[in-house]
Amino acid sequence: MSLVVIALMPLAENIAHVRERIGTAALRSGRKAEEITLLAVSKTFPPEQIRAAYDAGLRIFGENRVQEFAGKIAALRDLRDAEWHMIGHLQTNKAAQAAELFSHIDSVDSVRLARKLNSAASDLGKKLSVLIEINIGGEAAKSGVAPDSTELQDLLNAAPELTSLPFRGLMTVPPFSDDPEQSRPNFRKMRELFNHIASRRPSAVHMEVLSMGMSHDYEVAIEEGATCVRVGTAVFGRRESVGSKL
Ligand SMILES: *Cc1c(COP(=O)(O)O)cnc(C)c1O
Repeated sequence: MSLVVIALMPLAENIAHVRERIGTAALRSGRKAEEITLLAVSKTFPPEQIRAAYDAGLRIFGENRVQEFAGKIAALRDLRDAEWHMIGHLQTNKAAQAAELFSHIDSVDSVRLARKLNSAASDLGKKLSVLIEINIGGEAAKSGVAPDSTELQDLLNAAPELTSLPFRGLMTVPPFSDDPEQSRPNFRKMRELFNHIASRRPSAVHMEVLSMGMSHDYEVAIEEGATCVRVGTAVFGRRESVGSKL
């Protein structure tokens, strides 16, 4: 076995393990493994590791800071079919830069931000797929709009006119608990909200993506209807906690 292959093994093993668990959780929810998207959360990891994950077959990556990703993208531009998702809170003053760097913004949480992203995307002549972030646990310190808020209604009302910003679904980060079962009721509420919007507002938002579930609770999220799970630690290993809360 070549040295390169040996060096890649832990990552490849992690990915195989996660994929297997995604597959069995999908079966439990009456779906196929292929119906669940694995988004690899690469924040804090250097471009070399992202490339290794790409070489091991992953194509969809999530980052939570514009500045950090701006420093990594130059080394990754040749990975043409990779998708780069912004999954962290985005300030409106970074919207233009984010629209340039990312292909997807999974954390839209205000009409103001959506309008800025739309005009930046339109200036760039690109379509920027977005998800609405829902603060399902109503936590003060978390971003996202409340499920029953006027902010959510305003976003849904604005969506049809933001033509460079296809709205594709919802994203959430529920309150953290070591016990994944604690997340289940929130995941279920998200699925209900998702279905509700899909049935009531079919022209505003094409409800295709329900992004929920992280390393410790992605199987429960899939059982409750996630179509995309965002997995960092279980793919790349532990992050150094350098002043970053996640
Ligand atoms: C960091 C992060 C993740 C992944 O967390 P892990 O526990 O490492 O899997 C998922 N979603 C968001 C929004 C994140 O910031």
